[in-house]
Amino acid sequence: MANEKEKKRVCSFCGRDESDVNFLISGYSGYICDECATRASEYVKEFYASVHKSEIQELQLIKPKEIKAFLDEYVIEQDEAKKYLSVAVYNHYKRINDALKHEGHKRQKKDDVELEKSNILLVGPTGTGKTLLARSIARLLNVPFVIVDATVLTEAGYVGEDVESILSRLLQETDYNVELAQRGIVFIDEVDKIARKGDNPSITRDVSGEGVQQALLKLLEGSIVNVPPQGGRKHPEQKLIPVDTTNILFICGGAFDGIEKKIAQRINTQVVGYGAQKNRSVIENDDLLKYITSQDLKAYGLIPEIVGRMPVVTYLHPLSKEAMLDILVKPKNAIIKQYRKLFAMDDVKLEIDRPVLEFIVDTALEYGLGARGLRSICEEIMVEAMYDIPPKGSVKRITIADVEEIKRRKFTRQ
Ligand code: ADP
Repeated sequence: MANEKEKKRVCSFCGRDESDVNFLISGYSGYICDECATRASEYVKEFYASVHKSEIQELQLIKPKEIKAFLDEYVIEQDEAKKYLSVAVYNHYKRINDALKHEGHKRQKKDDVELEKSNILLVGPTGTGKTLLARSIARLLNVPFVIVDATVLTEAGYVGEDVESILSRLLQETDYNVELAQRGIVFIDEVDKIARKGDNPSITRDVSGEGVQQALLKLLEGSIVNVPPQGGRKHPEQKLIPVDTTNILFICGGAFDGIEKKIAQRINTQVVGYGAQKNRSVIENDDLLKYITSQDLKAYGLIPEIVGRMPVVTYLHPLSKEAMLDILVKPKNAIIKQYRKLFAMDDVKLEIDRPVLEFIVDTALEYGLGARGLRSICEEIMVEAMYDIPPKGSVKRITIADVEEIKRRKFTRQ
């Protein structure tokens, strides 16, 4: 009899036999079937979501000047973009607090002004600090923040990710606390890559261009979006989580290569080196970005509705040699500071002479990758010194000074 009982394995929760379920998980004194386990897990999630909900409090406002001062510690120059970003984040906080207040009073008074969000677009050449600005601001915030890449997004039904996956990331970031996710900030990088190809709208399918913009619009303008919790594609059997994007702030970034020509056409000037004519005023190519307007973005291939949903457009300018030198040494986690720390861990003081720093910057400028190129050049130079690191206590200081030697060793490949 005892043997008989041992053989029959049933779920201790629903009582079903092993043969009626997919599988059983054994516990201390019984079993749970896959379905009961899933249900229990959902119950736990819902319970914590309701606990989190009551935890949501007003955010402490940080003034735009304080936000900018914080950004200054990490990002060199780009004052214009920093200012716009600081104000946008400050207003985002205010809007969230306002929404919380109204939730408290159940209903908004009829005559009350509703605060609409102002999504932001950062335009600037590659490696000038767009993502760094976004990352730095994330350090300061106590709202959830994610960075996503527009190039992986495709229209629903095509290979790639649906735009809803952006919200899945935000949900994952908040441990599926929908209330918190609905107050988050999303940075969408490389948004220029989903510009419409060609001038004619929708002649052919434009899977990763206009279609994605249309899908993104839904998120940007504020609506309730059904989100697959794990990201990826929606499956019919998957439980979707409704997320309201009204209070999610979107910051978009893109290089918009070649947009200078559109700006130049509009303001009736010629780009230098593009056959400048005598009686037309000439504006330096690098300076043109500061005149960017929504018109130019439309001309570049963003659909008017998307442009309309990003009312704040600001720019980052190309970095000068001086700025690049500062980037090497000044920010809180500057590259050279990081190497110094690595060497200091072996009790070695690392010195790098100014001509070497200048050589690093000149080489990066040649590569045309903005400050993005600095790290790999530094790595090339530092690897020998790091490889030859002397035994502890034997050498107290290493100085890297000989530019000619570095050139011979590393940068003379033909
Ligand atoms: P992008 O504008 O292409 O998004 P990133 O912000 O990713 O460029 O910059 C790449 C790297 O270059 C950063 O991680 C940072 O180390 C450095 N960098 C770029 N711009 C700046 C800047 N203005 N101040 C400090 N570091 C910068």
